Amino acid sequence: MPLAENLAQMLVLIVEDNPASMLLTDAVLKRAGFLTLGATCADEVRERLRDYRPDLILMDLQLPGVDGLTLTRELKSDPSLADIPVVALSAHAMKEDRWRVLTAGCDGYIAKPFDTRSIGREVEHYIAEARARGMKRR
Ligand code: MN
Repeated sequence: MPLAENLAQMLVLIVEDNPASMLLTDAVLKRAGFLTLGATCADEVRERLRDYRPDLILMDLQLPGVDGLTLTRELKSDPSLADIPVVALSAHAMKEDRWRVLTAGCDGYIAKPFDTRSIGREVEHYIAEARARGMKRR
C-alpha cells in the first residue's frame, strides 16, 4: 500500500553495487510511493548529485573502490550536501557497526536484509527528522 500522498515527489538516491539488491530496493521504494535514482559507486553518486537534490540517500556500506562510510564523510563535509540525510544500509547489524556508521555522519542505519513492509516508513521517518532539524536551524 502506498504511503501518504505527500511522499509522492520524494526522491531517494539508492547507492548499491549489488544488482539484485538494487532491483529489490528500487521496487520496494517505488511501491511505497517514492521517486528513485540509483548509483553503484562513489563516482556515480557524485554525478547524480550534480544533477539532482535527493531528499535522502540510502547508502550501501560495501562498495567497490570508495566505501560507503568514506563517501558519507565526503558528502557531509560539503556544506552544499551536508543537509541531505544519509541512511546506511548494511548486512553487519552489530552495535559497533551502528557506532561506526553514526560517527561517520550517517543520520541513521537500516540492517540488511531489510523488512520490505516497513522500509518505506523508515525512510519517511528519516526525511521528516531531517526536515525538522533544518527548520530548527532557520
Ligand atoms: Mn555492496
